[in-house]
Amino acid sequence: MDPVAALLGRAGDRPEDPAVVQGGLTVTYGAFAERVMWLAGAFARAGEAPKVLIDLPQGADAYAAMFAALMAGGTYCPVNREAPAAAQERVFRAFAPSVVATDAATGRRPWMEGAVLVDVAGCDASPLPAPREPAEAAYVMFTSGSTGIPKGVVVPSAGLAHYCDWAAAFEAGPGDRWSQHPNIAFDLSVLDIYGALTRGASLHPPAGPADRLMPGALARRERLTIWNSVPTAIDLVVEARQATAETFASVRMASFCGEPLRGRHLRALFEARPDMRVQNTYGPTEATVSCTEVALDAADFEALCRPVASLGAAIPGMELHLIDGPDADHGEIAIAGPQVALGYLGDPARTARSFPVVDLPDGRRLRVYRTGDLARREEGLLYFEGRADRQVKITGHRIELGEIDAAVERLSGAPAASVVVNDRIVTFLATAEGADSAALRARLRDALPAYAVPTSIVPLAEFPRTPNDKVDFEALTAMAGRGHAAA
Ligand code: AMP
Repeated sequence: MDPVAALLGRAGDRPEDPAVVQGGLTVTYGAFAERVMWLAGAFARAGEAPKVLIDLPQGADAYAAMFAALMAGGTYCPVNREAPAAAQERVFRAFAPSVVATDAATGRRPWMEGAVLVDVAGCDASPLPAPREPAEAAYVMFTSGSTGIPKGVVVPSAGLAHYCDWAAAFEAGPGDRWSQHPNIAFDLSVLDIYGALTRGASLHPPAGPADRLMPGALARRERLTIWNSVPTAIDLVVEARQATAETFASVRMASFCGEPLRGRHLRALFEARPDMRVQNTYGPTEATVSCTEVALDAADFEALCRPVASLGAAIPGMELHLIDGPDADHGEIAIAGPQVALGYLGDPARTARSFPVVDLPDGRRLRVYRTGDLARREEGLLYFEGRADRQVKITGHRIELGEIDAAVERLSGAPAASVVVNDRIVTFLATAEGADSAALRARLRDALPAYAVPTSIVPLAEFPRTPNDKVDFEALTAMAGRGHAAA
């Protein structure tokens, strides 16, 4: 599906329908499409294939600038405005935009030399009458690498179009109200933005910080029908004591991606709404968001949690192979298909390492993305076995930190996250109530081999989070190193 054509088609058919609703303000499809065409006109003046940096808050203007960049035959890059200024500057320098879409309140930042600024609230361009041919790359999304140096993932227009086709699985349409929890610089937002706005649904970003902390309250207020988030957003709902039938009364479908989906998340959802349609999906930014799917329901989800929920099977058109393992059903996930990224911006060496051409057991040679995620396949479904870089060796024993987390969570009932510092395993426990570490460690001796029992268990009111709302393991490692592990 061509996302720009789909959006303009929706706007032509039903211009009065709500496209974006935020803090009580509604932008209709008609007004949204007008803004897209007019911004596309402004971007097109920068040349044949404009490179548009989107320096705007999460909301209608940012979404319009994305569609406008595509319409102008360009490539965009969304900035995470919550990141430190130095990180935003690094993104600017790496992407080297020809245009910056911004608002009057933000204006030109000190490092933005060499780019044309377009104020989304007012400029004198005329609308672009018809979409240009799409550029090879639709957008560049920066992910923080394990070294802390961001990698710019270049996602092809063909990959975005393929992913938009898959989003048909949500069966969204006019009248649907779709969540928009993740930051626009995080790939999961791509599903919300294109899933909703190419199909006539309305998009509901948070109206402020309170909505971020209380996604359940937002769902209830906005009467969301489609919920898409990382699984830990459900932890926030549970902590706020909002995992109730009222919170999810209007939600007909909940979709998850980005982190292990655990039994506790599914139990909370199905206790509130046993009839809800729930799916787990898996994928990295390097494969245009997600490339697997599995439906889970109240009756069978426990069987698909081992201990984390199955990742499911490849979506149509994509392939997931397990390589470098003992057999074709165990190993590192390697992804092939149209959604695989073109590579890392300005980093051919890393691109060659991460996107090799490999020999498959069936004799084919394919370009893949090597994810660094380990998995096994059982009865056609993939099960996540942790990141290769979360497998550690301590005193000669191979330990999967995710298994320790799962055991601690089972015994304590609270989310756990383990890190290793100087050969010591430190497990943080997200609980406001404190924890009896000695008693918990004693019970863990029955559940884990002795070498995998954490040296210390440290309760924290809440985990530090990355800008993508994932558990920030780097920050936890730093905390453990600073002696938070003394308990
Ligand atoms: P990102 O590129 O920031 O979306 O992160 C991608 C990584 O998140 C993957 O390589 C996995 O390690 C993890 N991930 C994504 N989806 C899932 C899932 N459903 N279950 C477990 N881990 C996941």
